[in-house]
Amino acid sequence: MVTTTEARRTTLARPDLLRSQAYYAGAWRDAASGETIAVTDPFSGETLAQVALVGEGEIQAAIAAAEAAFPRWSRTPHRERGALLRRWLELIERDKEDLARLITLENGKPLKEARAEVAYGAGFIEIYAEMAAGVLGEIIPPNAPGRRLLVEREPIGVCAAITPWNFPMAMLTRKIAPALAAGCVMVCKPASETPLTALALAALAEEAGIPPGVLSVLVSTPALFGDIVTASSAVRKITFTGSTGVGAKLMAASAPTIKRLSLELGGNAPLLIFDDADLDTAVETAMVAKFRNGGQSCIAANRIYVQRGVYEAFLAAFQARIGALKVGDGLDPATDIGPLISGRAVEKVERHLDEALAGGGRLVHGGRGDGSLLSPPTLVADVASDALLTREETFGPLAGVIPFKTYDQAIARANDTPFGLAAYVCSSRPDTIAQAGRDLETGMVGINTGLISTAAAPFGGVKSSGVGREGSHHGLSEYLNYKYLCQAGL
Ligand code: NAP
Repeated sequence: MVTTTEARRTTLARPDLLRSQAYYAGAWRDAASGETIAVTDPFSGETLAQVALVGEGEIQAAIAAAEAAFPRWSRTPHRERGALLRRWLELIERDKEDLARLITLENGKPLKEARAEVAYGAGFIEIYAEMAAGVLGEIIPPNAPGRRLLVEREPIGVCAAITPWNFPMAMLTRKIAPALAAGCVMVCKPASETPLTALALAALAEEAGIPPGVLSVLVSTPALFGDIVTASSAVRKITFTGSTGVGAKLMAASAPTIKRLSLELGGNAPLLIFDDADLDTAVETAMVAKFRNGGQSCIAANRIYVQRGVYEAFLAAFQARIGALKVGDGLDPATDIGPLISGRAVEKVERHLDEALAGGGRLVHGGRGDGSLLSPPTLVADVASDALLTREETFGPLAGVIPFKTYDQAIARANDTPFGLAAYVCSSRPDTIAQAGRDLETGMVGINTGLISTAAAPFGGVKSSGVGREGSHHGLSEYLNYKYLCQAGL
């Protein structure tokens, strides 16, 4: 049943978490132009909020406020910064159910996945609140008598963050938490489809006492924000999660001011299932790696390669699990897959499906949708190895399965892509696992599991999937510079 917007909105225990103004320089403001952008519930199609769409003046003001806040924040003792992050975490935990509902309302994902995202996103704040006190320097044995060689770690300065809609909370906290822990300050532009979770996080950061200017969240047209932050000499780092095309533009535009960059970009993950894999494990891995978040994940298994000996058995078991998936309103506890984010997303899935079928693919389950944003979970077997869905991210609940004969054939196909974010392997042989772990050209490999993301591990890609890592102590280093001090005359 489609409820009214008011009813859906009042499912928040704290309705004041639903913010529509921009937050910068420690204050909530409408756009000077009065412009707004509608945030739409992808399930009901209704408008959830009209959010301030800021212009150049406000973005520059946010950068200036961040610049003004940096000296004090960067010199705030690590333990105090950590304590403020912990307070923010406590407030997020207090309001976790509201945050999950906001994610579901603006993104469409099922509430159970939104709750998992809140826990995952909060995990970054938890680990970086601890690590804030552990930013250590080095003392290097002197290269000559009377000298002292030291290395200090210093925060980079003002950072700008741009994030996508598919994980409205976690993509932000995995940038904000290490940045603030390191002593950096940050101006964030969330995706225009999903700014409400980001603004709620800003409201909780304000309540936690994170000082004005240290964290700003505002929505603008994307190119305007990108142009201003890349051109600004005050902004010393850009951290971006999104498509490879936009990442490449930001990288090029950052060249004249030589900024630090972290780019978490597109993926095209292969899943390799070998004859010796445990079938239940292989099917569970495929279900999670393909259908979590409705397939709208950068590490979604986009191409499933299955060895001949287990091919038909895998297809039958996979089809049975796919057939049990329930598509619908993310607020319904029974829903496994919510609506896709937009009509463009549905159109892409259907284009990949049509092309796979036209190229000889066999439709095992599902098919085209009914014209709504609810895209049916679909399984196509015997997909041609050069089909569109093997070359581009599908970003939807369409699983394409391709048979292979030998290990070398599987690895060659898996690596035949410009992308290198994640890959998955299902096998029970330690030698196959070890060899594939080395041979796959990706930043991450899931072995007998489709669930690899954790704040404790470095997340990121190689090749066109980006540069830099988020999570773990490596994610903290992304916000720190080395300063080498050489003292003579001792
Ligand atoms: P996108 O179009 O690149 O958008 C991502 C963000 O960039 C949004 O905030 C968007 O703003 C902004 N943007 C768009 N054009 C811009 C420009 N010219 N200058 C500055 N910012 C600009 O990506 P998407 O389609 O929303 O997200 C899906 C992509 O993200 C997929 O490729 C996925 O693989 C990738 N992703 C990667 C990771 C990872 O960790 N590697 C994680 C999640 C997603 P608007 O929303 O206002 O357009």
